Amino acid sequence: MKPVVAIDGPSGAGKSTVAQAVAGELGLPVLDTGAMYRAVTLAALAAGVDPTDGPACAAVARRVDVDQRGSTTLLDGRDVSAEIRTPAVTDAVSLVSAHPAVRTVLVEHQQTWLVARESGVVEGRDIGTVVFPDAAVKVFLTASETERARRRRDESSPDQRMTIDEVRADLDRRDRFDTSRAVSPLQPAPDALRIDTTDRTVDEVVRDVVDCFRARTAATR
Ligand code: C5P
Repeated sequence: MKPVVAIDGPSGAGKSTVAQAVAGELGLPVLDTGAMYRAVTLAALAAGVDPTDGPACAAVARRVDVDQRGSTTLLDGRDVSAEIRTPAVTDAVSLVSAHPAVRTVLVEHQQTWLVARESGVVEGRDIGTVVFPDAAVKVFLTASETERARRRRDESSPDQRMTIDEVRADLDRRDRFDTSRAVSPLQPAPDALRIDTTDRTVDEVVRDVVDCFRARTAATR
């Protein structure tokens, strides 16, 4: 068992908020793997690579250096935290991340990230199923479609603000793609703690996850 909290779920389910708070509470580093797929997508678009071209996207993934410092994402040393959230990247990221060769590169980086730190909170789509199947705690967060769309819209910058219906259509498209792809589809690990965050406060969800992690890791000490 690895001392890892794996947090998976669809877009807007509250993964980043919960991951940051759980990491703060446990004093652990946090890794946002969605930001890694977004950074590779940004690099591919900037290089004029077609997001449907698997070998070319994988070559980009191998060539670039993606790093995270807190909530800042660095691409070859440059802060791209805002650029990776633009509609162009959001539109293409599910295509880029569906290529098995891209995933192989990033999964390896994610596993190496943990080796250097020993323990951490990692959020994404395949963390409990593929990246750390032996994580101490696996959480699968969900929320109603309307609530997820509302959260995503509130997070977007005012100059890029979309209507709830537009955000809902975007989430729906991406989730359908992420859930149905052949490699590492978005799905709960059989032993994941499933939490619907629609009507729960962040504090309540964080408490459940932290208690579970402490109980599991204490039991093995
Ligand atoms: O979490 P976020 O919405 O930023 O993720 C962006 C996209 O990256 C997802 O829609 C998914 O296509 C991809 N992703 C993935 N595997 C992960 C994390 C993200 O395929 N572990």
